[in-house]
Amino acid sequence: AAEILRENQKLITIGRLTASIAHEINNPLESITNLLYLMEAERNDPNKWKQYLTLAQRELSRVVQISKQTLTFSRETTVPVRVQLSELIEEVVALYHRKISEKNLRILRQYESAEQVSVFPGEMRQVLSNLIANAIEATSAGGLLKFRIRSARNWSDQGVQGIRVSVADDGSGMSAEVRHRLGQPFFTTKGQHGTGLGLWVTRAILSRYGGNLQLRSSTSPERHGTVFSMFLPTNMRPLAVIPRGGASPSPVGE
Ligand code: ADP
Ligand code: MG
Repeated sequence: AAEILRENQKLITIGRLTASIAHEINNPLESITNLLYLMEAERNDPNKWKQYLTLAQRELSRVVQISKQTLTFSRETTVPVRVQLSELIEEVVALYHRKISEKNLRILRQYESAEQVSVFPGEMRQVLSNLIANAIEATSAGGLLKFRIRSARNWSDQGVQGIRVSVADDGSGMSAEVRHRLGQPFFTTKGQHGTGLGLWVTRAILSRYGGNLQLRSSTSPERHGTVFSMFLPTNMRPLAVIPRGGASPSPVGE
C-alpha cells in the first residue's frame, strides 16, 4: 500500500511539473509570437526592429534554458559506472573555469574518501554542476568555494553506509523565506537569469540513488554562506528505469 501511495504521489508531482513547464514555456513563446508580429509590422523602422529582435532572442534563450534543465536527465551509458566523485567534481570545475577566474574565487578541496560509487556519470555531473553553479552565482568577487568528500552513515536511515559530498560557499546565503520555497520547481530569486529548476532536478536525481540533499545556510554578516551536502549510499545502484520528471522532492533538512 505504501508503494502504491508513493507511485500516486510521484504521478501527481509529474503532472504538476508538466503543467508548470508548459506554462513557463508558453509565456516566452507567446511573447516571441507577438514580437515576430511586431517585427513584421515595423519592417521599416530598423531601430524598433532591432529592439524586438533582441527581445525575441532573449525569450528564446529562456525556452532553451528551461528545456536544457528538464530534458537532460542524461544517461550516456545503459549501466551505472563506478566512479570516484572527486573526478566528477574536477570535471565540472573545469567547465566553470572561466566564471571562477573572472570572480577570482578560491577553491578548497577536502577529499577525505576515495571510495567509488555506481552512478550514471552524466546525471551525477548534472547534480554537481547545479550545486556548483549556484555556489558561484551566490559568491561575490574573491569568495571561497569548498568541496568536501567523506565517507559517512546516513543520518535518517540509520546505518546506511555512503558518501557525503558537500559544496559550500561563503556567498549571500538564503533567508528563511527562500529556504522554505526551495522545494518548488521554478522558484528562483534570479529573475530572467534563473530557471528555478536546478535544485528540483538535483533532488529528483538523488532520490533515484537512494540519496538525499541537506542544506545549511546563513545570511548573518559574520558567517554568511551556504552548504549543500548530498548523501549517496555506496552499496546501492541507481534505479534502472528513468521516471522522467523524477520523484517528489524531499523536504530540506536544516
Ligand atoms: P536557479 O539557480 O535557476 O535560480 P535553483 O533551483 O538552482 O534555480 O536555485 C533556486 C534558488 O535557490 C536560487 O534562485 C537561489 O535563490 C537559491 N540558492 C540556491 N543555491 C544557493 C546558494 N549556494 N546560495 C544562495 N542561494 C542559493
Ligand atoms: Mg541554479
